[in-house]
Amino acid sequence: MSSEGNSMPRFEGKTALITGAASGIGAACARHLCAQGVSRLILVDKDERALAALCADCETLRHHGDVADPDLWGEVAAGIDRLDCAILNAGRADSAPIVDLDLADWRNVLSTNLDGMFLSLRCAMRAMRAAGGSIVLTASVSGIKAEPGTAAYGASKAGVIQLAKVAAREGAARAIRVNAIAPGGVDTPIWDQVPMFDDFVKQHGSRAAAIAAMGEVATPLGRFARSEEIAEQIAFLLSDAAATITGAVLVSDGGYSL
Ligand code: NAD
Repeated sequence: MSSEGNSMPRFEGKTALITGAASGIGAACARHLCAQGVSRLILVDKDERALAALCADCETLRHHGDVADPDLWGEVAAGIDRLDCAILNAGRADSAPIVDLDLADWRNVLSTNLDGMFLSLRCAMRAMRAAGGSIVLTASVSGIKAEPGTAAYGASKAGVIQLAKVAAREGAARAIRVNAIAPGGVDTPIWDQVPMFDDFVKQHGSRAAAIAAMGEVATPLGRFARSEEIAEQIAFLLSDAAATITGAVLVSDGGYSL
């Protein structure tokens, strides 16, 4: 993954796994790695239609299913003969205050964000056991900074951060690097899962105006990130340009958590 002659890390000859690949940050990562020469992509998402519609200009294997389903990971593992990179990114949000949070909603968030993360991480680390590799887990600034209405999401993302650190310790002897990225606000469809976001859209007249207003109010840099920016930062962590970085949490939040 030399960056010679190009400011971006390149991925020629590499195979990469991406979960939550059908939308937002995951889809941006698929497009970015393709543009940077990756040879083979293994894409996982529960949204079959969006996954099928995602165009990837490289050899692509698509697996449709719930990341928290162990059978899915049996199927994915059977199709992997080598794996160099993994972006473990599938996630979902919640927004109820603890007093109103149902156990079922709590479990749904933890199922995707932690069970799914564990199963995908285990699959990736097993596939990298022989030759090493590099993994990035998508956490969130909500796993670091407490915000009302993020009990399940924040607890799950704090868990993702710790999972990345433990995996970094365990993987180091086999040349497996594991890092986490903790975005703040990113303009993706995940916001449509947050009931409070509806009110912002009504208040500001459009989805784009609501995203712009939230970014302006919440962050010192005055805006949310774009998925493409997060994808570039993930690609850096995956690449040899980050060869001495493992167990790190890259906070990419426009200064929100300062
Ligand atoms: P998104 O909703 O656009 O994409 C998430 C993708 O994950 C979707 O394609 C969805 O189908 C898939 N997915 C969700 N649950 C799944 C499951 N159980 N099994 C398989 N696939 C599943 O959202 P995004 O913003 O691109 O989110 C990507 C990651 O970034 C998530 O982990 C999210 O928590 C994290 N994140 C997002 C933001 C933000 O503001 N957008 C901020 C911090 C962290």
